[in-house]
Amino acid sequence: MLDWLWSMSVAEATGFFFALNILIVSGAYCLECIVPRFFKTAPQNLQHSSLELLLMTCTVFVNAVISVAGWLLWKHGYLQLNRHAGVLTALRDTLVLVLLMDFALYVLHRIAHMRWFYGWAHYLHHKYREVRPLTLFVMHPLEALGFGSLWVITLMLSAFSFESVIIFLQLNLYFGIAAHCGFSPYPKWLSKTMAALAIAEPDFHLQHHRDETVNLGFYTTIWDRVFRTNLR
Ligand SMILES: [Zn+2]
Ligand SMILES: [Zn+2]
Repeated sequence: MLDWLWSMSVAEATGFFFALNILIVSGAYCLECIVPRFFKTAPQNLQHSSLELLLMTCTVFVNAVISVAGWLLWKHGYLQLNRHAGVLTALRDTLVLVLLMDFALYVLHRIAHMRWFYGWAHYLHHKYREVRPLTLFVMHPLEALGFGSLWVITLMLSAFSFESVIIFLQLNLYFGIAAHCGFSPYPKWLSKTMAALAIAEPDFHLQHHRDETVNLGFYTTIWDRVFRTNLR
């Protein structure tokens, strides 16, 4: 796959990353439509305002542009990927990426909640009380640019294995959509196990949408516990 990505022209890569990001948001929309049929506790209102649709479109555009920028940095040697990593190295790199991004996103999220930043950007993500999978993509374009840039900068820190980058991107999408389901689809025993392992379950971010002063973490509850911003 890396050889295929490497051989692309700028136009082909742009088309590929735009198509990929449209596919991702379309998948989230399908989930949003299907999930209420299986879970009666899921949000049943599937209407989106024109502002939500505009913000989602902007996020898809920004994510595609960030993807192309990352691809260009890789092509020109500013971002390197380890394509010969073994299973253990890939697992270690995935863990490092999750922990690094979890901390960086926690810090960025806390900054986003500071009065000045909140008033011109992050309030848009909190404008809609009833969260649904597509709410993940409802944010100010500059916020999407900030999150995307943070991801590219993190990738430039070291030559992470290609497999770990793919696994991380899948995990990131899964956590993002699960956090915006609007309910917890897991059985109680799984929720308790995740809480014991400091892994953020869907309810964790849902609480943040109900009380914006708590639960600012993304993948784990570690930093909220350390900085005492967790819901107690
Ligand atoms: Zn959210
Ligand atoms: Zn927030």
